[in-house]
Amino acid sequence: MEKTDINSLYIEELTEAVTGMGLPKYRGGQIYGRLHQKLATSFSEMTELPESLRQQLSDIYEIKTAEKVSEQVSKLDGTRKYLFAMGDGSLVESVLMKYHHGNSVCISSQVGCRMGCRFCASTLDGLTRNLTASEMLGQIYSIVKLTGERVSNIVVMGTGEPMDNYDNLIRFIKHISHEKGLNISKRNITVSTCGIVPKMRAFADEGLPVTLALSLHSVTDEKRRQLMPVANSYSIEELMSACEYYFEKTGRRITFEYSLVRDVNDTDPDAEGLIRLAGRVGAHVNLIPVNPIKEREYRETAAPRVLAFKNKLEKSGINVTIRREMGRDIDGACGQLRKRTMDERGSRRGQGA
Ligand code: SAH
Repeated sequence: MEKTDINSLYIEELTEAVTGMGLPKYRGGQIYGRLHQKLATSFSEMTELPESLRQQLSDIYEIKTAEKVSEQVSKLDGTRKYLFAMGDGSLVESVLMKYHHGNSVCISSQVGCRMGCRFCASTLDGLTRNLTASEMLGQIYSIVKLTGERVSNIVVMGTGEPMDNYDNLIRFIKHISHEKGLNISKRNITVSTCGIVPKMRAFADEGLPVTLALSLHSVTDEKRRQLMPVANSYSIEELMSACEYYFEKTGRRITFEYSLVRDVNDTDPDAEGLIRLAGRVGAHVNLIPVNPIKEREYRETAAPRVLAFKNKLEKSGINVTIRREMGRDIDGACGQLRKRTMDERGSRRGQGA
């Protein structure tokens, strides 16, 4: 019989399950705290539980973990990039970034991705499967255990489209911000989406005060369709209206991610369009010179042009930053480490561990 994935269960569900086993209610909270705060990876560690109960639990439940396959440390800024294997051998990437305001972990939400953005390495081999909530948590728990570092910020910006794995995403956010877990403030969680409008609206309705980042990358539908196939399904007009809705419901300002691609979306009219859209929804703009991948011909905008683009936005009163490129020396772009490892292993599906 397949075992139940215990780390995906809410505290209420776990409590119900243990009371159903004839145990006192407090055991639910106790086990939850052991899993999500003390980051236990086996029931045998839970020495405060009677031996027979530990055995019983391990017969029914599995604790999904992310096992480190490799790690790269940037000599430039201490950024650590991890490749983790899930229980079935699926490989995912996660990154620990150290900022003066605290540590941030970037996690993957899917094994691969089916969105097909032209400049992105994560989508080249398509989607293998969704990650469970516990597998998203597992990436953070492993990094905390491996480094002993405290984590204060989470960005769901690794491989995968979080809104394409919606239910597990919501579960993940509730666990990681739970007071009996790592208790990370929802305000310190950012979810990045390529713009699946109905899911953005549903996400607004959840009323979770997390930051939503929209990967905009173009200010006209025509150009956006060339870079991002998802733009064939949703127009910029629909996206802006979803952004307005998100702000209305959560009071949280949207971030626009804008990867600058040389001679594609970095012209003056592009900047003007971006000023108009960001002004309309009060968005913060995050500019990222595109990180070239060998499979595509796209090149990054040169530094002086990036600065000029930023200045133009700033002069119009737009709140804009240039994303500090962390770990430039370690397979920078999303999905490149995973892709290279998979290619080396000759596996096409991310299952070759
Ligand atoms: N699917 C989600 C989250 C994962 S991608 C999304 O689309 O937002 C995280 C961010 O990195 C997105 O803004 C994505 O467009 C961007 N990105 C992907 N590959 C990139 C590359 N090679 N250079 C610069 N940005 C890239």
